[in-house]
This record gives sequence, C-alpha cells and structure tokens, in this order.
Amino acid sequence: MQLRDLKIIVTGAGSGMGAHFARQLHAAGARVAAGDLNVAALEGLPAGIARRRLDVSDEADAASFVDFAAAELGGLSGLVNNAGILRDGLLVKRDGRTGEIRKLSTEDWNAVIAVNLTGATFMVREVVARMLAGGHRPGVIVNLSSIARHGNRGQSSYVSAKAALAANTLTWAREFAPHGIRVGAVAPGMVETPMTQGMPDRAREALVERIPVGRIGVPEDIWQAVRFVLECDYFNGRTLDVDGGLSM
Ligand code: NAP
Repeated sequence: MQLRDLKIIVTGAGSGMGAHFARQLHAAGARVAAGDLNVAALEGLPAGIARRRLDVSDEADAASFVDFAAAELGGLSGLVNNAGILRDGLLVKRDGRTGEIRKLSTEDWNAVIAVNLTGATFMVREVVARMLAGGHRPGVIVNLSSIARHGNRGQSSYVSAKAALAANTLTWAREFAPHGIRVGAVAPGMVETPMTQGMPDRAREALVERIPVGRIGVPEDIWQAVRFVLECDYFNGRTLDVDGGLSM
C-alpha cells in the first residue's frame, strides 16, 4: 500500500515513537488520526492531523475514537497500534536487608494488561469492524510488540502483553486475510523515548555494550520497519524484531 493512500489511526501518538510515526505518515501524504491519553501532548503534532483524547483500555472510548477517525478521514484503511505503558517489577522480591517479601501488585499487573493487551485488542476489533462495515479495503494493521516478549526479568506483565500481541498478530492475520486486511507487528529493542528516559546511566552503558550495532535505537529506526509493514503487501502475520541485534 502507498503511504499517501492511507487513512490511518496512530494510538499513543502524543509522545515517543507514536508521535514520530504520526509525523512521518502525515509528511508522506497519509490522512492521520492521532489518539493519546495525554491530550496536551497531541498539540505538538502538525496541523492537518486529526486528534482527540483516547484511552485504548476503555472499550467505549476506543469505539468512539474509531468513529471519530473514520468521520474525520473519510474512511479508514490502517492502524498503528502503538499505545503502551510499563509498570516493571519482579513478580516476587525479597529485600536483602529486611528479609521482607514484596509481591508485584495486582494493580500494576492489571494496568499493563489493560493498556498493552486488552486496549490494543479493542483497537484492532473496532478498526476491523469499521473496515468491514464500511467496505474499506485493503486494510493494514501494525501492532507494536517488543523483544521483551521472549521473556525479560522484572517485566512479567509487559512480557505477557507483548507476547500475546505477537501471537495474535498471526491470529488476526489469518482471520482478516479473507477481507483484504493484513496484520503485522514490529518488536523494538531499546529505543530512546520518554518510556526509557528514566534508565540509570550505568544500566544504559551496560545495555549499549550488549547491542551489536553499538547504540540504543531511535524512533526513526522503528519507523523504517513500521513503514515496511504498511507498504509491503506481501508481509502478513509476522513480527519483525528491530533491536540492533540485541536479541540475536
Ligand atoms: P511512550 O514514549 O511512553 O509513549 C506512549 C504513549 O502512549 C504516551 O503518550 C502515553 O501517554 C500513551 N498512552 C499510555 N496509555 C494510554 C492509553 N490507555 N490510551 C492511549 N494512549 C496511552 O512510549 P514509546 O517508547 O514511544 O513506546 C511506543 C510503543 O512501543 C509501546 O507500545 C511500547 O510498549 C513499545 N516499545 C517501546 C520500546 C522502547 O524501548 N521505548 C521497546 C519496545 C517496545 P502518557 O504519557 O499519558 O502515559
């Protein structure tokens, strides 16, 4: 698909990679609807991008955002399913000094699953329902997974959500192929965004040493993969790892 032909939603478009994807899509001539929980952050996007507050984890909000986007863009042919959060923590931790046992809170677990898995699923469901009802084909969906889906210390909830998203990329590709809708996923390694800004310098340096290309990624690295998934009509059901070789 040509980028300029897309009528596409980007979730989590107020910051980090989502903002970069929305800008690049707009610059390429696509019609873009940007949604984010942080509505103030959407103000920084170029004029011409439709925008509205969106909480992907709220079923009614996800549905009404898709209605808004379809009305603003004159139909819908794509989704970059990007919104995500982190609430890291070991599942069970023993304090070395006091011996206290601390468990990952159910609240943190639920928050991550609600946004990264349930919310991402709501968005696919609502977008595809709209595409099928409106006869808008072909369509394309890009899910943002993570290399963490292979398993990562301190990230039980995030790993669960991102692994499920990669697995369901295949499920949905199979389900929607008869309707002319492709589904692919991109799984970044470590990327410089507000999500990763809090990392201590020492941990950052140790990580860079483990990345074969010798640097942390930037949103443009991931955009190149998202763009490939959007444009390549022969790519379907798979998850692309884009991590500088970190997980190889
Ligand atoms: P980011 O800078 O934190 O941006 C995520 C955006 O999503 C924020 O603007 C955030 O708003 C928004 N958001 C959070 N909850 C939302 C909700 N319920 N509904 C709608 N929007 C919501 O993150 P990023 O680093 O660009 O990450 C983008 C995607 O890539 C995420 O799915 C992330 O898991 C994935 N990823 C990131 C990395 C990395 O190293 N950065 C690596 C692998 C995968 P608030 O600011 O209000 O929370």
